[in-house]
Amino acid sequence: MTAMIERAGGPALRIPAARLLIDGDWCDGGDGRRIAVYDPATEERIAEVVAATASDVERAVQAAHRAFESAAWQKMRPLDRGRLLERLALLIERDADDLARLETLDNGKPFAVSRNVDMQFAIDALRYYGGWSSKMAGEYIQLSPLGEDGGTYRAYTERRPVGVVGGITPWNFPMGQAIQKMAPAIAFGCTVLLKPSEEASLTTLRLGELVLEAGFPEGTVNIVTGHGHEAGQALVDHPLVRKIAFTGSTATGQKILAASVKTMKRVTLELGGKSPTIVLADADLNVAIPGAANAIFPNSGQICTAGSRLLVEAPIYDEVVEGVAEIARGLKLGSGFDPSVQLGPLVSSGQLDRVSALVGQGIEEGAEPLCGGARAADKGYFYQPTVLGGGRTGMRVAQQEVFGPVVLAMPVLDAKEIRMLANDTAYGLGASIWTQDINKAHLLAAQLDCGTVWINTHNVLDLAMPFGGTKLSGLGREFGTEVIHAYTEPRAVCMRLQAPGYG
Ligand code: NAD
Repeated sequence: MTAMIERAGGPALRIPAARLLIDGDWCDGGDGRRIAVYDPATEERIAEVVAATASDVERAVQAAHRAFESAAWQKMRPLDRGRLLERLALLIERDADDLARLETLDNGKPFAVSRNVDMQFAIDALRYYGGWSSKMAGEYIQLSPLGEDGGTYRAYTERRPVGVVGGITPWNFPMGQAIQKMAPAIAFGCTVLLKPSEEASLTTLRLGELVLEAGFPEGTVNIVTGHGHEAGQALVDHPLVRKIAFTGSTATGQKILAASVKTMKRVTLELGGKSPTIVLADADLNVAIPGAANAIFPNSGQICTAGSRLLVEAPIYDEVVEGVAEIARGLKLGSGFDPSVQLGPLVSSGQLDRVSALVGQGIEEGAEPLCGGARAADKGYFYQPTVLGGGRTGMRVAQQEVFGPVVLAMPVLDAKEIRMLANDTAYGLGASIWTQDINKAHLLAAQLDCGTVWINTHNVLDLAMPFGGTKLSGLGREFGTEVIHAYTEPRAVCMRLQAPGYG
């Protein structure tokens, strides 16, 4: 059962039914309980998804475990796992416009972003990880055994899939995040259970339809929608789930890490950030000013690495901050289905309240609103792009992740103060440095306590580059050559060789 929704300027959108994907079949769940889905641009109720219970999760984990243990999956050629991912990439390519429209309806982001960023990332990631499936290699090691027993000892290591993976994802890049968890899991021979955010589950459900069409063996990819404290928690607590790949808030990441201790699960945690955009006095301001605006405003600031603190050397502070505010004032907000719109709404009323509260506290603590600072419309969860000047590092808005289109600007005096302020939050996800002096760029980069430093750019994520955070921004890395460690365990095999006359 699927519903159709009419949208101006395009064909009707098919909304996936409220179901769970378990063991290769769509089924009911949640004991009949549902979660309402709202269009964040209109506040209209557009759909519902299942609020899965712990027993639904139990069935899905058992299915994923059976699939993992099955001879068919264990013996599938690595290249054929890669082919499954390639088939899925082709299906997403085929349906990319429809999927992007569904993402825009559910999350609010402009259609062009859904299509050219979210869906393109999903397609690229499937191909990138598909290539990894045939590259699981170990080492051959010469040993130095104690004692002389006449044997020669050697060992080799092999990388083994970790087992059933729980992929728990947020709402800011729903489809991209789902693929970011499922594609490496499948590439390395794991099976997976995806639990999308209750705020934006629709494209992950459509992904389930394409997984079936692509011919993934039953139980290898399962999808369970639901609340974090119920379905998510059941997944984290389950002893047959061997790894949790999580992206979301630091508070939830901490709960997951604590709960994982009981079963000693492997975890990768991609969490929040408070990334600085650092503009040095010698920067090319024709590049740095739009660059600083582009570090914070895309996706309405709902990007974990958003440049939400703008640290500017004092001589150019006014020019840079005014330049960023000027760009912010000119951004067009509205429905993601309007092609002229640059920023969509925030994802939910809860997120709107959170952003409004943090900006309000910042202003109470002395920050000066240079533009924005309020809700942008009576209907829809729109928030004005906001530049706050006169920031101080002790303010709550300087320390807490806003996850909205809000940047706090602070003047900085010298390299010592830049280093101190840049590192002065509990987070360590990203940072960008804007300068024309390559010496300053690299010397400063080496002193920033975070997972990624960008020079004269910001928010560039690439599948070939490891991604993750230090401090409260997370644990472990995704992407790049690091990914193999996230989804496999090394196993050492040790042997004694002895054959008279042969050595
Ligand atoms: P969230 O932590 O509220 O939810 C994320 C997911 O965790 C959801 O699926 C939710 O249902 C689930 N969850 C909640 N409680 C749970 C529990 N007790 N056990 C298991 N699962 C649980 O995060 P959000 O609001 O959806 O996303 C925004 C956050 O995500 C921001 O902090 C942002 O910085 C972060 N994020 C980080 C990255 C990164 O790569 N570092 C990328 C995107 C978003």
